[in-house]
Amino acid sequence: MAKKAKACKKCRFIYEEGEKCPKCGSQSFTENWKGKIEIVNPENSEIAKELKLVEKGIYTIKSD
Ligand SMILES: [Zn+2]
Repeated sequence: MAKKAKACKKCRFIYEEGEKCPKCGSQSFTENWKGKIEIVNPENSEIAKELKLVEKGIYTIKSD
């Protein structure tokens, strides 16, 4: 049904279209990722700090 989204190996951003990350431009991605999190308020999010995320968006928690 839905095709598997890609997760950027560099910044963890999840995207479906294209061959490179729209966030950081890296062409290194994996389709083998687990769990995602939406960061809406990176300044006040502990998990965003832990994952070193500074922009809002949908990211994976764990990728290989
Ligand atoms: Zn990226």
